[in-house]
Amino acid sequence: MAGQKAKWTRRDWQAAFGAMALSLAARPIPAASSPALADGDWIDAHVHVWTPDLDRYPIQPQFTVEQMVPRSFTPEELFAHCRPSGVQRVVLIQMSYYGTDNRYMLDQIAAYPGVFSGVGIVDHRIEQLPEAIDHLAEHGVKGLRIHPTSADEAKEWVQDAGMNRLWSHCGKTGVAVCPLINPGDLEAIDQLAEKHRDTTVVIDHFARIGVSGSIEEDRLQKLCSLARHPKCYVKTSAFYALGKKQAPHDDLIPMIRRVLDAYGPQRLMWASDCPYQVQAPHAYDPSIALVRDRIDFLSPSDRKWMLRDTAAKVFF
Ligand SMILES: [Zn+2]
Repeated sequence: MAGQKAKWTRRDWQAAFGAMALSLAARPIPAASSPALADGDWIDAHVHVWTPDLDRYPIQPQFTVEQMVPRSFTPEELFAHCRPSGVQRVVLIQMSYYGTDNRYMLDQIAAYPGVFSGVGIVDHRIEQLPEAIDHLAEHGVKGLRIHPTSADEAKEWVQDAGMNRLWSHCGKTGVAVCPLINPGDLEAIDQLAEKHRDTTVVIDHFARIGVSGSIEEDRLQKLCSLARHPKCYVKTSAFYALGKKQAPHDDLIPMIRRVLDAYGPQRLMWASDCPYQVQAPHAYDPSIALVRDRIDFLSPSDRKWMLRDTAAKVFF
């Protein structure tokens, strides 16, 4: 995710979050890790893997090999980053390079029993949509990624027959819908969630609020208002791409506080968005450490929900 960095003044914070959050931001953050939580059985709810083996797993024609950065990110390469931080299970998110060819992800789910769950991609316009979703679900997929490719596409989803079929079938079968969206798309997701109340919704990366470098208050309010849907969840994730975009990511704490107050810990799940969270100068542990060790208003129970139990409930 690209975006410009913005320098935040005390006045900016006050305008964005009000006096309550300002006092939070000013509170000292304990730097020490909590030994009892340091080696938990954590779940990373959002990781992409791919292989340089393009013969067996070709990428879609609109992508080039040069766009695969890093060139390789296999499960073994992932484990080297996540296991030292106490992460044992991972939700794999179908990588855009592969389009609707979910085979590499499914093969990794099969190769590491009990380790991975999956979020796949289907084309919502196909006639055999329910069968395609059922096929993925039989192979360990617990969610479907939806991603608008233009500014207006999410608005069109609200009335689109195929997209409504997708939401409806997911609601019937317990497969979550996982929108990768911008803040301007939240209204469309609100309307779809209203129409499909049985469908679990997991919004990626705070709906990308903070990509610009600023945590825009109106956008954050909109994200928090979606908490009125009991089956709507938020991934507190992709810290490398949001706000100041640098460790220790403390500037994201007021936004985490806001979604915590709106959704509660049982509807939030932490995720890294690897491999992007491990591209220099970013690193894995500062991302999980923010939730695991640093935010002082999180209780041990809150941390367990955000780092494991919410993702376990939805994806495992
Ligand atoms: Zn991602």
